Amino acid sequence: MLVVMSVGATEEQIQEVRRHIEADGLTPHESRGEQRVIIGVVGDVGPRKEQVMSHLAVLPGVESVTPISKPFKLTSRDFHPRDTVIRVGDTTIGGGSLTVIAGPCAIESRDQLLRTATAVAEAGATVLRGGAFKPRTSPYTFQGLGMDGVRFLTEARAETGLPFITEVMEPGQMPQVAEYADIVQIGARNMQNFPLLMAAGKIDKPVMLKRGISATIEEWLMAAEYIVSSGNPQVILCERGIRTFETYTRNTLDLTAVPMLHQLTHLPVIVDPSHATGKRWLVPPMSVAAVAGGADGIMVEVHPNPDDALSDGPQSLTLEMFAELAPVLRQVREQVKPIVALES
Ligand code: PEP
Ligand code: MN
Repeated sequence: MLVVMSVGATEEQIQEVRRHIEADGLTPHESRGEQRVIIGVVGDVGPRKEQVMSHLAVLPGVESVTPISKPFKLTSRDFHPRDTVIRVGDTTIGGGSLTVIAGPCAIESRDQLLRTATAVAEAGATVLRGGAFKPRTSPYTFQGLGMDGVRFLTEARAETGLPFITEVMEPGQMPQVAEYADIVQIGARNMQNFPLLMAAGKIDKPVMLKRGISATIEEWLMAAEYIVSSGNPQVILCERGIRTFETYTRNTLDLTAVPMLHQLTHLPVIVDPSHATGKRWLVPPMSVAAVAGGADGIMVEVHPNPDDALSDGPQSLTLEMFAELAPVLRQVREQVKPIVALES
């Protein structure tokens, strides 16, 4: 349920409401807007719902108490009407800025990563990507450089000034990687790995949660809810294609998810056309389409020599292709600003 405090409710009144919620065995989560404070109440309230609601409704400073009909609560726009804006290094994600995440699928060597990082930084990327721990479909393919890869990412950050994102696959790795990474990625295959989601809720770095291969939007938001309810409100969603009957593309890019999510949630939405399409030549048009549809940014795989890539070469852009694409995305963003709801 949502407890909407009246405009001008005092701090003591807010604290008093929180105390009552906790005394009922529930957890209060605050959303402070410019005008008023909304307190989201989560927990298993069961048959006591009506009683708890009417009890909170009469407390001083409370304007209204309403149930949240959707199963996701803290990630819903009802709870947090304004866009969540996530600060990463010198840039922000969400709330109207365009985020461009680029880099190799997997970090293969120091040289490969630094070359790519320098080129994408020069072309206008705002975040560097690079997989150190790789979730590979086959156990016989390159599995990533692990913490050595993370070390190369920190070097690339020092060299280019770009913050970096990298994937974590198990809860035990979370604190160690979060110490270095600017954003932690949870991959499609782990979208419903609940211990991993809860571990991501315990770090104080932003988390980018990719959509599961066959996840509905609601399941995806419930996965995000695990992270937020575990204590980390800095969640970014990433649409990376879903599995359908179509075989010409690696997955089917669900671009409708972008405006749908913007209506349902306050969290930023990034689109990954690399994993969605699986084909290099489809990545620029789908990146443009994503930005035109109001995405808060894109994430693309870039490799200095995609034909020799140890992972996802066929979908990786060359450095030149990325340099051509990045400025176009900024132009598209400017053009579509009036028609896509970027700021709520
Ligand atoms: C990735 O971004 O490196 C990746 C493995 O993507 P996904 O989890 O979407 O398959
Ligand atoms: Mn990849």
